[in-house]
Amino acid sequence: MLKAYKYRIYPTKEQITLIEKHFGSTRFLYNYFLEYRQKAYAKGNQKVGYMVTQAELTKLKKLKEYEWLNECGSQSLQMALRDLDSAYSRFFKKQGGYPKFKSKKHTSQSFTAPQNIKLASNRVYLPKFTKDGIKVKLHREIPQDAVLKQATVSRQNNQYFVSILIDDNNAIPKPIKAKNAVGLDMGLTDLIITSDFTKYPNNKYFVKSQQKLKKLQRRHSKKQKGSNNRQKAKLRVQKLHTKVSNQRKDTLHKISNEITNQYDIICLETLNVRGMQKNRRLAKGIADVAWSEFMRQLAYKAQWKGKTVLKIDQWFPSSQICSNCGASSKKKELHVRKWECPECHAKHDRDINASINIKNYGLGQIDNRNTVGTIGI
Ligand SMILES: [Zn+2]
Repeated sequence: MLKAYKYRIYPTKEQITLIEKHFGSTRFLYNYFLEYRQKAYAKGNQKVGYMVTQAELTKLKKLKEYEWLNECGSQSLQMALRDLDSAYSRFFKKQGGYPKFKSKKHTSQSFTAPQNIKLASNRVYLPKFTKDGIKVKLHREIPQDAVLKQATVSRQNNQYFVSILIDDNNAIPKPIKAKNAVGLDMGLTDLIITSDFTKYPNNKYFVKSQQKLKKLQRRHSKKQKGSNNRQKAKLRVQKLHTKVSNQRKDTLHKISNEITNQYDIICLETLNVRGMQKNRRLAKGIADVAWSEFMRQLAYKAQWKGKTVLKIDQWFPSSQICSNCGASSKKKELHVRKWECPECHAKHDRDINASINIKNYGLGQIDNRNTVGTIGI
């Protein structure tokens, strides 16, 4: 099975220059060949694919004008063309939009080395970075006999990372016969609520940093444009931003681990806009990000463990149905946390009732329960 491990790296000044050259060159080639392919298609030449662009790249590198391309790993340069080719394939298969030009200003920049990666005593060695390697903080061990397939170096908010894709030599697990299931709902007070009455609260450190972040952002916006102080304030915001995002990820990792260990079938809704007040756009934005990160984690962990995730894509009125008798009641305001069913008089906690409905709905939609991975229903 393929797994990705992401680590913070601490490149030297010279290494940063070379990393930035890789970002720039791969972005340049991606854009160059996007335009190249656009022009070819406009002329009716449909045959221009990866192989044609690769041959063109070889020619480019020999020209004096584009000599600087040779400072970068040639495999990394070719990866830019492969990325472009995949973007086109997704577009042709109607799985994605038309490929877009990449911007230098984008907060996240990256390049990929598809082979010749080595890890040794807290250093990562990549083509063109073979002399001393780049210092890396390995906070998680990579399984011993894993094969290092590729490495992606990225910059996010002025910090550098490497994401290493490995093959752990284990086959994808066979689906297990499901013995239990759970429904999940997401709230603002509690992060995740399960149909088994478990509530995972929002991490209080996360809430605190979130408030601090708002304050720093306000301070930044008050500083004079172009001033040194504004630049400093911006860096402070970016730093905290990364910290907040890591705290959130850690919390979600713990929850997604527990849930994928405990349950065989996990039902949840893809869109969790329900219950979020319109005027609380910030809170909703944070919740949306957390929810999609949580779904991403659940999906791959479920696959590792042979479990099933059922994503309910359509709008389903989970908070309006009584999970006891199935009676449908009217829409409830967000402040209504507890309610009693007018038909059977069962007393409900709003979020737990919703998660039970999500579970029942999910189970009602699948016939074959011996599935593995993520299914949209
Ligand atoms: Zn009822």
